[in-house]
Amino acid sequence: MKPANSVLSGYGTTIFEVMSRLAQEHDSVNLGQGFPDGNGPADVVAAATDYLENGVNQYPSMMGIPPLREAVAAHAKRFYGLEVDWPREVLITSGGTEALGAALFGLIEPGDEAVLIEPLYDSYLPIVRRAGAVPRMVRLEPPDWALPVDELRAAFSDKTKLILFNTPMNPCAKVFDRDELELIAGLCIRHDAYAVCDEVYEHLAFDGRPHIPMITLPGMRERAVRIASAGKIFSLTGWKVGMVTAAPDLLTPIAKAHQFLTFTTPPNLQSAVAYGLNKDDSYFAGLNADLQARRDMLAAGLADIGFGIVPCAGTYFLTTDFRPLGFNGDDVDFCRHITVEAGVAAVPVSAFYESGEVRHFARFAFCKQEAALDEAIARLGRHFGSGA
Ligand code: PMP
Ligand code: GLN
Repeated sequence: MKPANSVLSGYGTTIFEVMSRLAQEHDSVNLGQGFPDGNGPADVVAAATDYLENGVNQYPSMMGIPPLREAVAAHAKRFYGLEVDWPREVLITSGGTEALGAALFGLIEPGDEAVLIEPLYDSYLPIVRRAGAVPRMVRLEPPDWALPVDELRAAFSDKTKLILFNTPMNPCAKVFDRDELELIAGLCIRHDAYAVCDEVYEHLAFDGRPHIPMITLPGMRERAVRIASAGKIFSLTGWKVGMVTAAPDLLTPIAKAHQFLTFTTPPNLQSAVAYGLNKDDSYFAGLNADLQARRDMLAAGLADIGFGIVPCAGTYFLTTDFRPLGFNGDDVDFCRHITVEAGVAAVPVSAFYESGEVRHFARFAFCKQEAALDEAIARLGRHFGSGA
């Protein structure tokens, strides 16, 4: 048999799937994979049901249904003051994951360079490589996840086609501030590069921090691709409705990739997301406050047990340092150990790096119901002989 594609063959099953399967096998509280355990806002779910029964269930336009594209533009105007010409600047995809794939396949030419910031979300590197780009990695490290300015500058060159980054950032829960974004923007402008910005956690920047889309920075309106996900905005991660906003010259090649990847996305879900994006400000503020409260609850519980807590500025995720617990092993051993022996799953942070020395941090997802967080804290407390 001839070999399959050599880039993709090199990757195993993603850590999220691996830890979720292990959690299921051991009946563990799953604080590994980042998905909420509730069923999202009832009115948004009802809107999807209604459309499924009473709407049109055939292929919608490949660009997405107009009411959703219009709602994406209205949402950008409301939260970021961004004017978006939705017929030319908004594309709906099957999740943020497809949006990322379509953006990278649409923009990268084999031989280009792409700047990536570690720790990175699992789909970035395989797709960048499959699209033919040479990755130039810049590392952030716990506990402060500071952007190494000299390394970032050195990673850019005239071969750089794009930088791909995530803010608020999974797994390290960093929210890029305006100075950091301006630095990146300056490099993009100087080297004539694009910025593909994964903003799926846009409504989950905590403690009053603003989420600043790169596309709103001076000089970036024509260079930035903004990627959003309804899964995260409505706590319905299985829905896989992604939203891309970019200037027409950038959106056109991305739409070309999208038409050959999935072509379109279920219309009932699109319709419900349009309804949801038009909900009033209190919905978005409530989501933020709710997740922030869960972050605090999990952080306090794990700190009582003896975990070191790395500050968390956003997302679904809390990074912890398990060395104070005296565990003898690396983060992969630790996450397996607590999943099997304590009945709580987490994800090793080293899975978000290609290689290197970050080996004693575990990521816990707090986007779970309070009862699940309580149970996880109690189990870990019993296991490590403290807390509960
Ligand atoms: N980017 C990041 C950083 C994520 O954490 C996720 C999580 N699922 C995605 C993209 C993918 O979003 P979606 O589920 O909409 O494909
Ligand atoms: N974004 C989720 C996480 O980081 C997982 C998504 C997935 O499983 N692909 O946990």
